[in-house]
Amino acid sequence: MKWSSALSKLIQTYHRTVKERCLNMAGVPKYSMAYWQNILFAQAMLFILPASVIATLPGITYNLFSQRYVLAILDGMSLCIVLAIGLLGKIQVSYRKLLLVVVTYFVGFYSMAYSNLMPVGILYFFGAGMLGILILPMRYAFLWSLINTAISLAYGMAMYFNAGLHPKMGIMEWMYISLNLVFFSFLSSWLLPRLMAGIGGAFERQKKLANALRQEHRRVAEALQQVEGKSREIEEMVYFASHDLQDPLRMINGFVTKLKQHKEEQLDDKGKEYLNFALDGGLRMQHIVQNLLELSRSGQVKKSRREEVDLLRLVQNLEKILAEDISKSEATVEYYRLPKVQSHAQLLENVMQNLLTNAIKYRHPERKPHIAITAERKGENCQIAVADNGLGIALEKRERVFEAFYRIDSSGNDQRGTGIGLAIVKKSVEALGGKVWLQSEENKGSTFYFTIPDT
Ligand code: ADP
Repeated sequence: MKWSSALSKLIQTYHRTVKERCLNMAGVPKYSMAYWQNILFAQAMLFILPASVIATLPGITYNLFSQRYVLAILDGMSLCIVLAIGLLGKIQVSYRKLLLVVVTYFVGFYSMAYSNLMPVGILYFFGAGMLGILILPMRYAFLWSLINTAISLAYGMAMYFNAGLHPKMGIMEWMYISLNLVFFSFLSSWLLPRLMAGIGGAFERQKKLANALRQEHRRVAEALQQVEGKSREIEEMVYFASHDLQDPLRMINGFVTKLKQHKEEQLDDKGKEYLNFALDGGLRMQHIVQNLLELSRSGQVKKSRREEVDLLRLVQNLEKILAEDISKSEATVEYYRLPKVQSHAQLLENVMQNLLTNAIKYRHPERKPHIAITAERKGENCQIAVADNGLGIALEKRERVFEAFYRIDSSGNDQRGTGIGLAIVKKSVEALGGKVWLQSEENKGSTFYFTIPDT
């Protein structure tokens, strides 16, 4: 346990040190090509340092034993330079990168000098070129293939003038080998910058898109805030207007009623008719104003004010309130096993009252109204349905019935409602955190469904 924690600490320190030395992101724009090159260099160093220790130490030991001292010294020097690049402080990152490329070429050179290590040398030249392209500025990408070409030519010339350089190989064979090095070097110089630019460009585009999206998001949020502010303003206006209208209206209706009670006898038939119109209009207006007030209040519900609501008792209570309408229309109301829910009693009562009154109001002329109320649990919600056997609602009007002041019979002959009832239902249900919808068939009946969260 101790060993493993000491080891992980050592690895962490190693990672931190190499990153501190080799990763310099000051002034480098995020996701730019330089950004990726810097990351690539730091990651490469994390790998190269231990790998070169593991690879070189046995080689040095072997060279010492087999008395190839020069090779051992050169290997030792290269290892020291690599360690210095990764771990020594106070060297600029750009110099570290250049030094890594140079030391790779250096290994290539002395490997070439040892005739039996020539393939290793060529690999190192290619590797040095690749490193140069990937970690140093891309505008120098072709410089590395030119260097590899120059090395190939120089080595070929040296072979030509001094046949002893590589006794087992002719100049033609060298040309064949070195041409491959030149070919792959140029291919890399051409391909790798394009690949890196493609990656950088893709990130750049993504960044721009993300920025544009963020700005758009902010604009939408601001617009939404403005709309919300405006709708709150309107709601308040409606509230105060309907609230303030109530008193004068009550007064007008009161006096018109008194006029009817005490002075109707003195009026002729026309006068009586006008008085009745005035009374009807006044009462209707009072109804509209009350509905408006209810509508503007229905959106204001505090989550903290949730309480246990017994749906059964709520419906039984509504039956009492609507007793006159129920008995006049000879309606039957059916329900059983209505649960208790965690909700807002007043809003729920508004919803149910509007749905029940509509089910009675919009009954079919040829049959007595029959209303069925059911409730069932749907996940974390309670879904309540109020079904009637009334007039039904045509398909194209089903969405619109929830709009304020929308009435199916807008001719003015239908005195039954104000067009606000279902708007109150929708607003109340949404304020409770639920949804409302309906299914209906013309001349057969409608079912209004709504959900309320119950957790
Ligand atoms: P109103 O105050 O006019 O009843 P609502 O918003 O409650 O206003 O309803 C809007 C319209 O939807 C009504 O004019 C009516 O035509 C129709 N409607 C509502 N409930 C029912 C129902 N249960 N059956 C048939 N039509 C209905």
